[in-house]
Amino acid sequence: MPLVNMKQMLAHAHANGYAVGAFDLVSLDFLEAIMDAAERCRAPVILSLAESHFEYFDFELAMPAVVAAARRAKVPVAIHLDHGESLASAVRGINLGCNGVMVDASHLPLEENIAASRAVVEMARGCGVPVEGELGYVPGVEGEDAERHPGEITYTSVEDARRYVDETGVDFLAVSIGTVHGRMKGEPKLDFERLAAIDQALGIPLVIHGGTGLSDDQFRRLIENGVSKINYYTALADAAGVRIAANVAAGAKGYTAVVAGIRQAIAQEVERCIRLWGGADQADAVLAACEPWEPVEHIILYNLEGLDEQGARAMMAEGRRVLAPIPGVEVVDTGIAVQENAKYRYCWRIRFCHPAVIDSYREHPDHKAFADQRFRPHAGDRVSIDYQLVTRDSE
Ligand SMILES: [Zn+2]
Repeated sequence: MPLVNMKQMLAHAHANGYAVGAFDLVSLDFLEAIMDAAERCRAPVILSLAESHFEYFDFELAMPAVVAAARRAKVPVAIHLDHGESLASAVRGINLGCNGVMVDASHLPLEENIAASRAVVEMARGCGVPVEGELGYVPGVEGEDAERHPGEITYTSVEDARRYVDETGVDFLAVSIGTVHGRMKGEPKLDFERLAAIDQALGIPLVIHGGTGLSDDQFRRLIENGVSKINYYTALADAAGVRIAANVAAGAKGYTAVVAGIRQAIAQEVERCIRLWGGADQADAVLAACEPWEPVEHIILYNLEGLDEQGARAMMAEGRRVLAPIPGVEVVDTGIAVQENAKYRYCWRIRFCHPAVIDSYREHPDHKAFADQRFRPHAGDRVSIDYQLVTRDSE
């Protein structure tokens, strides 16, 4: 079950002088290609889902496949919400299975960026999930030509970076030092002195967005100066696009013929990046250094007094509705015993993404109100136990 704690994964990269690729995926072809390449390289990898891409696929439908791919992998994997636009987006991402989230409020003035980022960090801490913040502005849109989204690059300053990280508590920082999202004409000029100064001042893993189009030497110097996570998408989309165009030019008709070979094309570019950024053959060391990311099952077995069957079903329905949106809650299931003579007739099975949620859930006002007013008055006879799931074989 090599879904692992992302903070520890990036700490390993930061301490050992390489960068983990965070590859944005927009379809199952991307997912399979990224995992194939990572396993071929024996490398840690981050499966990244960007909110700006949610118009291209159904995030809620995609996540079970992404989680399944991570859980069956033989290399360490983290799942990241890229460019989360709001606190609500971050909660949704975590509850669907992301174990890292980015809050992108970098277009706001510093004070507002700090306030928005801090709110996400406070929520995510209660879920055990690390947060990436961004300071400065990396213009452009992933997968599009950069000149279509000109905007001015706003470089990250050392003083602002120090203040932002101190006041928000973010775990990783995306910096703006000259890259842009999407395709750029010519080679971008990167401010390595600025990057080195930020790295010296902060000492936390730094993140680069807009990795497409950088030279091998530029990547090497980024990593030397504290970059531990590189976001990468446009070149993968282009590799797939080139293959599709070639298929069509060769007379391909029909969906499967038109997209034939795009997985291999994407995987080839992912593999090139992983090897270039130093992640190859790091999988075993990362697995040894990182806690597995395992959920907790919060189980309650109970009997009801003063509620008939219809009342019981109404109470359970309300619970499913009220409890599911609480941060860190992945699943809320309610059940009725199959055997008439069962010792406990009803159950809750609530899945938390991480043990930290045991406390934050208990204190959450929506949980308190529901438990105090709707559940406990009728369910004096109950047992409640939290189980840490164990799915990885011990060696
Ligand atoms: Zn980005």
